[in-house]
Amino acid sequence: MSFVDNVINTTKNVAATTGKKTNEAIRASKLKIKSGQLNSEIKSKYEKLGALVYDMSKSGEKDTEAFDALVAEIDAANTELTDIEKQLDELKGKVACPSCGIKTDNDNAFCPKCGAKLPEKPVEEAEEPVVEEDMGE
Ligand SMILES: [Zn+2]
Repeated sequence: MSFVDNVINTTKNVAATTGKKTNEAIRASKLKIKSGQLNSEIKSKYEKLGALVYDMSKSGEKDTEAFDALVAEIDAANTELTDIEKQLDELKGKVACPSCGIKTDNDNAFCPKCGAKLPEKPVEEAEEPVVEEDMGE
């Protein structure tokens, strides 16, 4: 086996063991991007809502349909954002207290701030065993 082959093999093994962590990092950065997009989306919807309310007030005409639609869109975006933040917390091993909302280690059984019972720690995926493919040369 040449030196180059050795290097390639070693790199492959490292890639296999760090693959999970890398995937988590990729997932986390994708979630962060999505969270940022949602935040600006929500912000612009609030602005639209404000403009709509202003127009309605000025004109005296109520466009409740457009108003309700915007409120529903904001609600949907907020729900999605909450879900993304929850996924990010899970990746970081954090859990939000259902009572007071502070983020705490998901190893804790009770909230360190208010003492509320925390949700059960999600069952961790078993680490994938690294298969040794050393059959001798
Ligand atoms: Zn709490």
